[in-house]
Amino acid sequence: MRLRGLSRLRKLWRRLRRSIVPQRGAIILCYHRIADLPQSPRRLWVSPQRFAEQLEVLTRNFVPLSLAELAERLQEGKVPDKAVVITFDDGYADNFWSALPLLERFGVPATVFVTTGLVGTEREFYWDELERLILGETVKGRNGETEKGRSGNLIGQELRLEIRGRVRQWKLTNDEERLKAYHEIHDLLTPLLPEQREAVLQQLRLWFGVSENGRPNYRLMTVEELVAISRDGLVDIGAHTVNHPDLTAIPPEQQRWEIETSKRQLEEWLGRPVRWFAYPYGSGNFVTRQLVKEAGFEVACSMSLGFVTNRSDPFWLPRIFVENWEGDELVRRLGQV
Ligand SMILES: [Zn+2]
Repeated sequence: MRLRGLSRLRKLWRRLRRSIVPQRGAIILCYHRIADLPQSPRRLWVSPQRFAEQLEVLTRNFVPLSLAELAERLQEGKVPDKAVVITFDDGYADNFWSALPLLERFGVPATVFVTTGLVGTEREFYWDELERLILGETVKGRNGETEKGRSGNLIGQELRLEIRGRVRQWKLTNDEERLKAYHEIHDLLTPLLPEQREAVLQQLRLWFGVSENGRPNYRLMTVEELVAISRDGLVDIGAHTVNHPDLTAIPPEQQRWEIETSKRQLEEWLGRPVRWFAYPYGSGNFVTRQLVKEAGFEVACSMSLGFVTNRSDPFWLPRIFVENWEGDELVRRLGQV
C-alpha cells in the first residue's frame, strides 16, 4: 500500500513538474532544397556540404526520429527530449539527388511533403519562375558576371501587370528595382487562387517572351523518383496540397479539394497510405485543421516556432526553418528556440 501510494505521489509530482517547468521536447526541422543557390532570395536552400555538416552535428547532439515515430510517441504521451525529425517541403528533385545519399550516409530518416500539381511537369514554382524572369540575369551580375541577358534587353521598359483587375507597374532598370519588384509581385501572388496566379504568370511570360518551361534543376521529383526515394523506408512522403495555395485565403471547399486531392494522388502513385500533411507557408486556421483531420491525416506540420511536447496539437506541430548555416550555428540556434 505504501509503495503504491508513493508511486502515485511520484506520478503526481511528475505531472505537476511538467505543467510548471516547460518541457523542451522534440524538434522538427523544415528544409526545402539541398542545392548550391547563393543567389536565391527566398533562402530555401542548404548546400549539400552544409547539409552533411548539419546531419553530422544533429546525430551527435540529438536522436533522429522519423515523423511516424514522433507521431506514435505523441499519441502515447511520451515525446522524448533531444529528438530531431527532418522534413522537406515542396518535393524538389534535389531531395532525391542530393539529400537522399546524405540521409543514407548518416542513417537519418526524413519526410518529404510534396506539392502534387507540379509533379511530372517542367514547370517551376511561381516564386522560382518569378526569380528566373525578374532577377535571373541581374543577380548573376551582382556576382561579377554579365549583366546582359534576356531581361537585360528590356531595361528602360516598365513592367505592367494586371493583378485581380488592377494594373500595377514596376521599373526594372537596376538590381534594387528588380529585387523590389520581385518581392512585391511575390507577395501579391501568394494569396491568389491558383488560376489567378497563373493568369499573372502568363502575362509575365508574354512580357519577357519566354515559355513556362523551367530550369531542369528547379523541377520537382517525378513519380518514379518519389517511388524510388521512399522505397527503402528511410524517407517517407507526406502531402502539401496540389497547387501550394495559402489555404486560409481560399474557400473551405477549395481547401478540402487541395488537401484531399494531394493525398489521393500520392497514394495512387506510391500504393500506400499518406499519413502526414504540411500546410503551405505554414498557414492554416481552425477550418483548415479540421479539413486535414477529416481527410484522414494523422499529423500536420505548421511553421510555428517551438518544440513538440506531449501537449502539442498533432494537427499543428511546430517546426524550425533551417538555412544554409554551419553545423555549430544550427546547434546554437536550436538552443535558443
Ligand atoms: Zn511549401
